[in-house]
Amino acid sequence: MPVVPIREILDPAFAERYGVAAINVVDDLSLDAVLQAATELEAPLIVQTSLKTVKSYGAKVLYSTWRARADEVAIPVSLHLDHCPDREWISICLDAGWNSVLFDASELDVAENTRQTIEVVAEAERHGAQVEGEIESVLGVEDGVGSDEAGLVHPVEVSAKFIEDTGIYSFAPAIGTAHGLYKADPELRPDRVTELVALHAIPMVLHGGTGLNQAQFSDLISRGCAKVNISTALKIAFVDAHRDYLEANPGKHDPPAMLGHVHAAVKQMATDHIAMFGSAGKAGGVGAAAS
Ligand SMILES: [Zn+2]
Repeated sequence: MPVVPIREILDPAFAERYGVAAINVVDDLSLDAVLQAATELEAPLIVQTSLKTVKSYGAKVLYSTWRARADEVAIPVSLHLDHCPDREWISICLDAGWNSVLFDASELDVAENTRQTIEVVAEAERHGAQVEGEIESVLGVEDGVGSDEAGLVHPVEVSAKFIEDTGIYSFAPAIGTAHGLYKADPELRPDRVTELVALHAIPMVLHGGTGLNQAQFSDLISRGCAKVNISTALKIAFVDAHRDYLEANPGKHDPPAMLGHVHAAVKQMATDHIAMFGSAGKAGGVGAAAS
């Protein structure tokens, strides 16, 4: 610790059925805020970056920013690359030190997705990293990746075979959630999580979690969603905090005061979600359970 392979964080979470927050950060301020929130709750944490953020920072600068902050915390943490359809960027991030990648080949047919995911799993293994797989696209566009049209949902047997054939570590099933904000209550398919875990017991990943309530989170986590992605909630907290500060202080030009306000808002958002997922106090169980 503190930076550990993602399986050391998710193996015990999956076994004990609690959820680990996987929060998409956008810069060093949001990174620091979520690390502080998890530290205070003694919770393991996964930090995620979208491909867009990696491209705008540059992989090396982003990784060294992450590493400098992560090395200072006392909780187990991992760095994950969210939805990445681009093999070249998968390689760049694995080379730079990311602990886990989501190879998002959901646009490809299952056979070609399987073939390429097998290659990505082999590449990740050489780096001691894990791979999250996906065959059904999660509804909604997130940082330029995805589609607003509902995609094909395969029978769970197809997903289970994909998991088996590829050797992925974690899987993102289509369960009725969507990226972005819900305009109407989502029709969740929690049964699909249960069926998949029964067929092939690996950690499931909940995408599109922003806007679900405590009961929905708890139910999906109890069925095997060990990794719970949070992206939209961070964007809302981050942007609204800037807006609120500027509206309340129109004549002020005090960057540290504004950034402090944003930091506090992002940290509160992370604290609220980690508490909902049941991972508070679980930092000490990581490593002990995995080894
Ligand atoms: Zn997602």
